[in-house]
Amino acid sequence: MPLSATNISFNYPKGPLILDAVDCTIKPAAITAIVGPNGAGKSTLLRLLAGLSSPHTGTIEIDQTPLNSLTPTQRATKLAYIAQRSALAFDFDVKLVVSFGRLALKKDPAAIDRALERFDLTHLANTPLGTLSVGQQQRVSLARAWAQLDDPLNSPPNAYLLADEPTSAMDPKHQLHTMHALEQLASTGVGIALVAHDLTLAARYADRAILLNTQGQIQTQGPINQVLTPKTLTQVFDTPFISGQIQGHPVLLPLTTTTAAPQS
Ligand code: ADP
Ligand code: MG
Repeated sequence: MPLSATNISFNYPKGPLILDAVDCTIKPAAITAIVGPNGAGKSTLLRLLAGLSSPHTGTIEIDQTPLNSLTPTQRATKLAYIAQRSALAFDFDVKLVVSFGRLALKKDPAAIDRALERFDLTHLANTPLGTLSVGQQQRVSLARAWAQLDDPLNSPPNAYLLADEPTSAMDPKHQLHTMHALEQLASTGVGIALVAHDLTLAARYADRAILLNTQGQIQTQGPINQVLTPKTLTQVFDTPFISGQIQGHPVLLPLTTTTAAPQS
């Protein structure tokens, strides 16, 4: 059963319309990339899908149940969210931050250890979060969400992971490691939505995509190879794209900007 948004509109107080009558679906057992230009509303959409803000019109449903009718504990078993920037106090150590993933759930120290291991953090377990690089902090956020969704009683997992640019500051090895981990999580049944600017990484690992335009509308959504095409990307990003394949992997390359540089 999907996580679905139907006819949602949203604006910040006194601000312009950010999302305009958006319909979209995050499917279970698949990775959906949410892509679009800066300011298009990707993070806003993800927060709405996570139930952290409410749309002004429309509904968000998980398994056909309105998100706002779930208790916090029910929601914690079904939805893990990773923000673009962590808002946590930086002197907490890594293991404590990962354990926050299970605050609303049954205590499970082994789940925390598994999550640390999965994201190559065991050696950093006692390190304060604030002393880590941003890429390492992103691994901690993923481990927290991983620990939250690690529940043998919810098998196959009827759950969603919503992650806002989760690999943006990682080195290539950890980016691939993370995307493999997410692929594996999706193969167990978890539905994953991730906001991504690395279109080549998205094209390689995501099954589906939602492309938002600067008018706060969905330009197109569906199977990844039908959404991330040079034609749609060129329209939405106002920059020509070409696509190709290297060793069987899709590559999407922005060529140049169509907007002339300001004349001095
Ligand atoms: P994206 O993630 O696609 O870059 P966002 O969803 O973060 O875009 O933001 C969409 C628009 O909403 C931007 O114009 C941004 O300035 C505005 N916005 C985001 N958060 C807030 C906020 N808390 N208050 C007011 N405006 C905001
Ligand atoms: Mg954003």
